[in-house]
Amino acid sequence: MKPPVISIGFGPGLGVFVPAARRAGRSAAAVDGSSTLGHVVESLGVPLTEVGRLEVDGREVTAGHIPAHGEVIDVYEVERPQTVEGAPLRFLLDVHLGTLARRLRLLGVDAAYESEDIGDPALAAYSARDRRVLLSRDRGLLRRRELWAGAYVYSDRPDDQLRDVLGRFRPELRPWTRCTFCNGELAPVTKEDVAHLLEGGTLRTHQVFAQCTACERVYWRGAHHVQLEETVARAMAEFGGPAPH
Ligand SMILES: [Zn+2]
Repeated sequence: MKPPVISIGFGPGLGVFVPAARRAGRSAAAVDGSSTLGHVVESLGVPLTEVGRLEVDGREVTAGHIPAHGEVIDVYEVERPQTVEGAPLRFLLDVHLGTLARRLRLLGVDAAYESEDIGDPALAAYSARDRRVLLSRDRGLLRRRELWAGAYVYSDRPDDQLRDVLGRFRPELRPWTRCTFCNGELAPVTKEDVAHLLEGGTLRTHQVFAQCTACERVYWRGAHHVQLEETVARAMAEFGGPAPH
C-alpha cells in the first residue's frame, strides 16, 4: 500500500524554515496516517512556536489533527502582536542573545539571560518553571516539549532582533527601570544612600540616582551612551504606544 500523501503550503513568514521547493505554493508530503499535523509540520522544519492558524481543506484544525490522504493543508505564521496567556510577559534568552537581552532590559522588559551555556534541557526547564517565553535562534531548542512558550528570533542583527521581538509581543516599555547587567529592577535612591559606592566626580555632577535591587549597581541620569539613548528613542517611537489591533 502506498503511504498517504497530503498537499501542504506554508505562509510566507515560514519560508525561512522550509526548503526552497516548498516556499512557492503547496507541495506534496508523505505522511504516515498516525502522526499529528504538529509533528508533520515540525518534521518539515517549522517550529510550532512560529505557527498560527492551521487549515485543512479551508477549515481550522488544531496541531493534534491527524492528516489523511488527499488533504490540502495550509500552515500560517503566528499572528502579530502575539498574546501569551497565563503569566506576565517575560522572556528568557539563550546564550547567543546577550546583546538582545541587554537592549530589552534597557527598555524595562523582563529578560533573563544565562551568559553560560547551561544546556537545552536546563533552559527549557527554566522557561517552564518561571513561565518565560524562550527566545532563541535554535530550532531544536524551540522544539522541546517542556517549554512554557518560545519564539524564534529571525535575524542575527541585534537591531532587527529587537524590532522583531517588540513587534511580535508588544511588551510594555519602561526605559531605564531595569538593570542591564542582571535584569534586576531599579529603585530610586538618594545621593547619600550611594555616596560610598561612587567617585567624587560622579557625585558632584549628577543628582538623580537609581540602584539595582538585585546586584546593587548604581545608575545615574546622563551617564548613558548616546547609542543607548538612540536605541531607546527609536523603540519608544515605534513601539511605545498601544499595540495595533
Ligand atoms: Zn543588577
